[in-house]
Amino acid sequence: MNQEVLQLLNEQVNLELASAYLYYDMSTAMKSQNVNGFAHWLALQAHEEIEHAEKFIHFLLELGQEPELKTIALERPSDRSPLALAKATLAHEKTVTESILNLRKAALEAGEQAVEIFLQRFVSEQVEEESNARDVLDLIQLAGDDASAKLRVDAILASRE
Ligand code: MG
Repeated sequence: MNQEVLQLLNEQVNLELASAYLYYDMSTAMKSQNVNGFAHWLALQAHEEIEHAEKFIHFLLELGQEPELKTIALERPSDRSPLALAKATLAHEKTVTESILNLRKAALEAGEQAVEIFLQRFVSEQVEEESNARDVLDLIQLAGDDASAKLRVDAILASRE
């Protein structure tokens, strides 16, 4: 198997797990501020990222490769406001999209067709992830400093299944 593609697949496992860790950190921040709906939304997002990591791990194993789990970094946002965390979520998903597209490009160039096909669902997934993050950011921006609007937005975020 192409070694660059293999390395990028391993890095993607790490990035998905780092995403989970980041969202879990943000969820904890929201919980401590009693912004429980956004905390719930972020906790579900963290779980989803672990599922993404598991899909990459499973795929690597199917290819006969042992996944290489590395230290997980946490770029902890210093501004812990809901607005800052919503912005950080969208920015992070854009980083993930870039990583997936870069990986897909490498797979195409290396003629790793199975990898390229596997990645297609993640290209679509990232469109959804960015859209969801943008929706959350829009809602929080719309509520602004209006206390009752903020409560309504948090109730909407609490309804995520
Ligand atoms: Mg992900």
